[in-house]
Amino acid sequence: MSNAAEWVANFTPRPLGEYFDDALRLYGDKPATDFMGKGLTYRQLGHEVDKAAAGLQRMGMKKGDKIGICLPNTPYYTIFYYAILKIGATVVNFNPLYVEREIAFQARDAGIDTMITLDLKVVYNTVEDVRKEGAISRIIVCPMADLLPQPKKLLFSLFKKSDRADIPKDDAHIFYKSLTANDGKFTPATIDPKEDIAILQYTGGTTGVPKGAMLTHSNLSANMEQMKCHFVGARPGEESSLCVIPFFHVFAMTVSQNLSVLIGAEMVMMPRFEMKMLLDTIKRKKPTLFAGVPTIYTAINNSELTPKYDLSSIRICMSGGAPLPVEVKQKFESLTGCVLVEGYGLTESSPVACGNPIDRPGKAGSIGIPVSGTEVLFRSLDDPKQDVPKGERGELCLIGPQIMKGYWNRPEETEKTLEDGCILHTGDVGYEDDDGFVFLVDRIKDLILCSGYNVYPRVIEEALYLHPAVAEVIVIAIPDDYRGQAPKAFVKLKEDQNATEEELKTFLKDHISKIEMPAMIEFRDELPKTLVGKLSKKELVEEEAQKRAMA
Ligand code: AMP
Repeated sequence: MSNAAEWVANFTPRPLGEYFDDALRLYGDKPATDFMGKGLTYRQLGHEVDKAAAGLQRMGMKKGDKIGICLPNTPYYTIFYYAILKIGATVVNFNPLYVEREIAFQARDAGIDTMITLDLKVVYNTVEDVRKEGAISRIIVCPMADLLPQPKKLLFSLFKKSDRADIPKDDAHIFYKSLTANDGKFTPATIDPKEDIAILQYTGGTTGVPKGAMLTHSNLSANMEQMKCHFVGARPGEESSLCVIPFFHVFAMTVSQNLSVLIGAEMVMMPRFEMKMLLDTIKRKKPTLFAGVPTIYTAINNSELTPKYDLSSIRICMSGGAPLPVEVKQKFESLTGCVLVEGYGLTESSPVACGNPIDRPGKAGSIGIPVSGTEVLFRSLDDPKQDVPKGERGELCLIGPQIMKGYWNRPEETEKTLEDGCILHTGDVGYEDDDGFVFLVDRIKDLILCSGYNVYPRVIEEALYLHPAVAEVIVIAIPDDYRGQAPKAFVKLKEDQNATEEELKTFLKDHISKIEMPAMIEFRDELPKTLVGKLSKKELVEEEAQKRAMA
């Protein structure tokens, strides 16, 4: 039996809620969350989870329902995550930076009726527009002020009135306080970990069209156990994890949140990435674990504030989502004295599939070795059912207990991506060296990795097509010093029509989020097309590469 098969044979999948109960039992009085200086122990967090679960059940929510969470990193995220899972419902994660159209699409596709959000204008107003438009019918509103410690709470009430949304008091708006005004008694659902979907996680996958990856309780419990095996040296009940990448992203959900619950670590939550806040939080809380995307490590390395802070509390870091430049890894390690390992994964693998070892040297530039219970295969790009000889480049395919059940309501996409229902075709091209380390060389899919987020060219293209002067559009990725990659749009205008780059960018502000905004818009008289007349990106990608080579 291979090591991977042996690990899987010994792994017993469990409902995610049980892991939370374990944390309550083992680490009840230990800190569970810190948000801006206000903390909750696991026991206190557990009370909120129970009351939220009871409140949801009293609203009529039940096993199999899908409930949206549109929240930045706050304790509310974790409270509702476990409350929803304990009643057997499914969490649908929403990016709070999305615009109305994007939230409405995902809400309709997933079939959610209720969305949980904050009472801040910046998130609430978009969710409320989605409700008014009819894509959802109820909003559970969580008050920001209650998260803050006393002096900050008072200041927030006095000065931040303008940030708070005006929320009607009617049946469509349920306030956290009234939802949780109960004794916390609810009927836990009976969960079949291998079948029941814990999370519907939206991704562009290999085709770029947003769709929901169905991650079961078993998938996610496997990945947190795999992470526990990988984080050699992590001390249960003694760690504190800096949670700055958003939980709605699968990387943070598993590595920052679920792993923390598994090992009883404190989650030091930050609602957004801001350098001074991050450094002050490290100074105040002295976190020991940190999962981030390469752009965050780059930003810390390059900030003029960094030398003024002591970062030596951080011991183990994982970078994922995009390639980690070797010099970034080395500089960050020398600044902190930590081990920074690069990992790899995707939404469809819950997400972690490979990682560089923590307790022995890894290989710079490699995404590491498969995590416990995981096998990698490399398939021919010409014949996806054919293995390539060891060491040769091919499409990276994965087998393991963390591989999704399939895509929600998209059997054809599932069939294309999951060979025989279990071999995940990742769309990434790579190879394995003689020591079993995996290197990525290219990406088949055309998504753009911008500050660790997936930006789908199609979304930007569709938004640009809404402008009356636009005839044709192609969006491609260009390298960006800070964001890793950024979108660039090529636009052909309709005859006799005029528009400037500024005008189009102003127009786009209402249709796409900031993160998706093209770094550049270039106008062309003609755009390249394939023989069958489809717009073709290839030529523009090559042109851009040539321009950079000559610069
Ligand atoms: P997502 O499904 O949003 O998690 O995006 C997954 C994609 O991110 C993968 O298919 C890869 O293309 C890319 N990715 C993740 N980790 C890495 C890494 N360490 N190096 C390069 N690309 C990565």
